[in-house]
Amino acid sequence: MRKPQQAQLQAIAKHAVAWFAKYRRDLPWRNTRDPYRIWISECMLQQTQVATVIPYYERFLIRFPDIQSLAAANLDEVYQLWAGLGYYRRARQLHAAACKVVESGQSPFPLDRDAIAQLPGIGRYTANAVASFAYDQRCGIVEANTQRLYARLLRCKTPLNASSSQKQLWDFADAIVLAWPLATGQLNQALMEIGSQVCKPKSPSCGQCPLQKHCLAYQHSETDTIPAALPKKQITELKEVGLLIHDSKGRWLLRRRLKSERWAGLWDFPRYDCTDIPNEGLALDRAADAFLNLYSKRPRIAQECVSVKHSVTRYRILLRCYLAQIDGKLTTSNKSALANPDKNNALEPSQEQLSQEQLDWYTTDELDQLALSSSARRVADWLKKHRP
Ligand code: SF4
Repeated sequence: MRKPQQAQLQAIAKHAVAWFAKYRRDLPWRNTRDPYRIWISECMLQQTQVATVIPYYERFLIRFPDIQSLAAANLDEVYQLWAGLGYYRRARQLHAAACKVVESGQSPFPLDRDAIAQLPGIGRYTANAVASFAYDQRCGIVEANTQRLYARLLRCKTPLNASSSQKQLWDFADAIVLAWPLATGQLNQALMEIGSQVCKPKSPSCGQCPLQKHCLAYQHSETDTIPAALPKKQITELKEVGLLIHDSKGRWLLRRRLKSERWAGLWDFPRYDCTDIPNEGLALDRAADAFLNLYSKRPRIAQECVSVKHSVTRYRILLRCYLAQIDGKLTTSNKSALANPDKNNALEPSQEQLSQEQLDWYTTDELDQLALSSSARRVADWLKKHRP
């Protein structure tokens, strides 16, 4: 692969920007230069489709129109507005970053790329995207769409996650923005848009591509083999039993997930791993025993009512939920603490609280307001619809 020369980089940039002016999608975060809004959109767009993000983005900005309002919020409320987008770590880091900006006196937003890169949860791509889209700083970007586009332009045959590939792609990203004397933000967005809308993973639309003349993969008929396929992820199947424990007032028992667990800080129905148990009866015994060990009460488990399949990183989880009851009251004299006697005054959980079991009862309608894990949200939606 030969390195593109300055004139060629300028030609690529010129064609990309001209194409973008004509064909760009009108997305809400493209009508602003506000770095806060751009940052929110970039966090939401990580691993999430544009069409899914739009309503979340709009709702989030109505509630948190600026970084001060986000920093002043409690994390539970941020989680609620994030619920359904998944990857809750992003929401936690967004909130932590907002607090850091406000505390350090950098609001409304840090003024350059290096300061942005110091914030929690912000990597090289996000820092460069925000700095270039908002401030036109000359920073290249490499994300899923641009890395595929650049790999094909450059005929990069090594897998994209190889460090040599990443270096080559980032070098190209930086070189093209340095070669283009006009707005960097427009150029970067144009390259992303071509990657997303034209240079698609399968069957790229080379006939409509403004960069066809510069594309080495196209010239060598290698658009199907570049980028190189990554080895398939090994998927691990897990089975869990969820306990939908209700009391005589029609309330459901939920626990806050611990710091050491995935979806830390979110609320969930008690659930237990039973992957290694082939028999349903034994799996229910395992779940009941686990609950007893933690909370000193053995639940009486009734019929199965809903099951939810979901995936997390390399795990595919089947969560089978059963209605259940416990005799007597759960009190703070049990091993757990009843978490939240005044739900309207729920404060953000401290790190210490996230290290301890917390339980609380919620009515079906109250579940709407609770920051639930996405699988628990699906169970809650089922409860709301079926009211068992
Ligand atoms: S010519 Fe085809 S493969 Fe090359 S950049 Fe354009 S769409 Fe992608």
